[in-house]
Amino acid sequence: MLELSLEKAFPGFRLALELGVAEGEVLALLGPSGSGKSTLLKLVAGLLAPDRGFIRFRGEDLTPLPPERRGVGFLFQDYALFPHLTVAENIAFGLVEARWPKVAREARVEELLKRMELTPHARKRPQELSGGEKQRVALARALAPRPRLLLLDEPLGALDLRLREELLFFLRRTLREEGVTTLLVTHDQGEAFLLAHRVALLREGRLVQVGTPEEVYARPKDAWTARFLGHKNLLSPGESARLGLPPHLHLLPPKAMALGGPWRGVVEERLFFGGRVGLWVRVQGVRLYLEVQEGPPEGAEVGLHLDLAQAVTLEG
Ligand code: ADP
Ligand code: MG
Repeated sequence: MLELSLEKAFPGFRLALELGVAEGEVLALLGPSGSGKSTLLKLVAGLLAPDRGFIRFRGEDLTPLPPERRGVGFLFQDYALFPHLTVAENIAFGLVEARWPKVAREARVEELLKRMELTPHARKRPQELSGGEKQRVALARALAPRPRLLLLDEPLGALDLRLREELLFFLRRTLREEGVTTLLVTHDQGEAFLLAHRVALLREGRLVQVGTPEEVYARPKDAWTARFLGHKNLLSPGESARLGLPPHLHLLPPKAMALGGPWRGVVEERLFFGGRVGLWVRVQGVRLYLEVQEGPPEGAEVGLHLDLAQAVTLEG
């Protein structure tokens, strides 16, 4: 169990939160830029000292320990690879520090080079690599010594779309296989949902909501959270009333809507994404978004099924 109770202030910014992470759990810290995600990770890593509070892991107080004595593996956006070391040497770095025997060290480096598709680059230096390759080396370096706690700050941040997806699923498998307690930072809700057992939403240094991906997506605490999680159908009190709901703020979840039904609507925008089609449909003067396999063209009149019993009342 990782227990955090932390306060840290910068001019114009204050982080204050309490959070527990279970053994072997992957917890995603999800929040917009500037919400304090990196600050929180740096506090746990020991790269920053808190103004107040503690970091406890398996009952041991880590707060007074320097980073290298915390048993933490980390990957930070601004924590560069060692430029004078090769890819293989970068990955082996933590193993040398931890005095792994040479044979075990070489086997672990081989394994990670292979899994990260870096074998052809083993002898190169970081400046000879693309952004995506560097990111994979950094990830391999963090994982190599099998840390008891893993901190990942936007681990897929600098990658192009294809690599991002590939590494996302690789990372997901790896985190589950290694079973290492992980705090993962992202601003991408899809990434958080796919990788984490639980998601913690951070806004301006405070935790807004913590729960499983399913829980927070189905029951976001307020309108801000709902929007941040990618919900599109937030109904104002007036819009709610036009659809026959009480005049409060509501969220209409995707599963409450389908094509074909008694509500009459007009397709205002049709967005082709490849595997799915997004439709903005105007119903009773309210614009609603839904995704379908194949969608009618813009301007088409459609019937809509709306299950208003599934509408979630939101705090402002
Ligand atoms: P995030 O990672 O969520 O984008 P950060 O944790 O990097 O956010 O930053 C949170 C806030 O703290 C920002 O307003 C940022 O400018 C400020 N901040 C971060 N690090 C420092 C620092 N070393 N000195 C002063 N302000 C900082
Ligand atoms: Mg950050």
